[in-house]
Amino acid sequence: MTEILAAARPLIALVGRPNVGKSTLFNRIAGRRMAIVEDEPGVTRDRNYADCEWDHRAISVVDTGGFEPGAPAEHAPDRLMRQVREQAQLAVDEAAAVVLVVDGRAGLTEVDRSVAGLLRRAGKRLFVAVNKMDSGGTEAEAPLSDFYELGFGEVFPVSAEHDRGVGELLDAIVAELQVPRTPAPEELTPLDEREEGEEGEEGGRAPDPDAPIRLAIIGRPNVGKSTFVNALLGEQRFVVSAVAGTTRDSIDSEITYKDRKFVVTDTAGIRRKRSIAQKVELYSVVRAMRSIDEAEVVACLLDASEAGVEQDARLLGLVAEKSKVLICVVNKWDLAEAEEATQAWYRKELAKRLPFISFAPMIFTSAKTGKNVAKVLDTAARLVQQSRARFPTPALNDLLENVQRAHPAPLARGKPVKLYYMAQVGYAPPTFAIQCNRPEAISGDYKRFLENRMREAFGLEVPIRFLFKERR
Ligand code: GDP
Ligand code: GDP
Repeated sequence: MTEILAAARPLIALVGRPNVGKSTLFNRIAGRRMAIVEDEPGVTRDRNYADCEWDHRAISVVDTGGFEPGAPAEHAPDRLMRQVREQAQLAVDEAAAVVLVVDGRAGLTEVDRSVAGLLRRAGKRLFVAVNKMDSGGTEAEAPLSDFYELGFGEVFPVSAEHDRGVGELLDAIVAELQVPRTPAPEELTPLDEREEGEEGEEGGRAPDPDAPIRLAIIGRPNVGKSTFVNALLGEQRFVVSAVAGTTRDSIDSEITYKDRKFVVTDTAGIRRKRSIAQKVELYSVVRAMRSIDEAEVVACLLDASEAGVEQDARLLGLVAEKSKVLICVVNKWDLAEAEEATQAWYRKELAKRLPFISFAPMIFTSAKTGKNVAKVLDTAARLVQQSRARFPTPALNDLLENVQRAHPAPLARGKPVKLYYMAQVGYAPPTFAIQCNRPEAISGDYKRFLENRMREAFGLEVPIRFLFKERR
């Protein structure tokens, strides 16, 4: 494994016509949440996109059917065909693997065949999930052999509703994509105990503090992303060059600022290049997710006139879930200032509506005038330093002792809960293993309390993770 724990993960797209069971299958797969992520209060989960884990391997899954625009499509066959094909095309552009979901009771249809043809020509890794095979071969179910006609190699009978065959499908996907294993918490060795430059499952090198900073600019449509990126690239003080992006169609810009290299990805620029994509929310959501995965720092633009709307909350929920370094950029501040809004008011509103990102610094910008735009780069550099930092074990344990002396963890069923020892086990996000007598008895409140004390003690504005391990 590498030291960077919040690494990119392959995207699996579920494609198929309405009512075959895509969303049921999505919920089955998304139910396998990453064990490493604590449930944060106030996080809005996206209904159609999720990070999850199968067999200790990290994947993302998207239900393309969840983004169907407009009226129900069943009533207009032409429109249905077009919609499903568009979704398939988008999935093909962004996903590492595509699962074509078909209905084992209805048998193959014209739409299934057409979409299969499109997918085959795209040369993506393809899997067919024949859903609603609840009993594994009664007369109500079409014989599996019918579906081999689609020409995708192995065909997987599943019952999303009864959770049958889903594991076999996921096994095949992670094997085909060679998704690396994410170590379980108990497998992470404290950094202190590793050999200098040790590699392999539990080793890895410390991050280079001067490595270029990958910065993704995200935010809902019209919030000012393109204007913001143009303002950044237009700054006379910067040296700018275009570099090939890491994903299809993306153009990243390399900026040198105060002797530091930044690679900036603009999600809006990509969207604009593709005409069909403009109409489809799926594309912008999935693109944003991919650039979040690939970035080390995410600058999420918010509109100064509306603090924390639903769309912002969903996007930020994913940033938080991925434990990415985050900067909240409150843009169009020129307009808000004219209305005499204050930064203090905005901070309070946002803290109320999006409490799970309270650790992130907030910067008030005007992409239009360029005001404070460069400050986002200064902030990114400061945050990366925190995220790549090495925390000395004695300092961590002094803190742990002081915290418990002042506020011991609440008793659980009348017995004391003790935290014995803390050591750093990873970077980006800084991750700490804590040995304790009863990991399951530590409340979410106490974990957040400890996290806040850590933030105060070390001046941290980036996400951090704790892994609680049992020691008797
Ligand atoms: P989508 O439109 O493709 O997302 O399909 P949904 O997930 O909304 O499912 C459509 C219908 O099929 C719903 O009534 C589900 O309850 C049903 N369904 C989904 N999976 C199964 C399954 O494995 N077996 C059976 N019998 N019904 C299922
Ligand atoms: P995107 O969809 O997020 O890329 O948003 P754009 O960059 O296309 O901006 C949407 C609109 O907001 C455009 O009309 C911009 O001129 C305007 N805009 C962007 N940033 C600012 C700002 O800081 N102040 C004001 N007043 N307008 C802005």
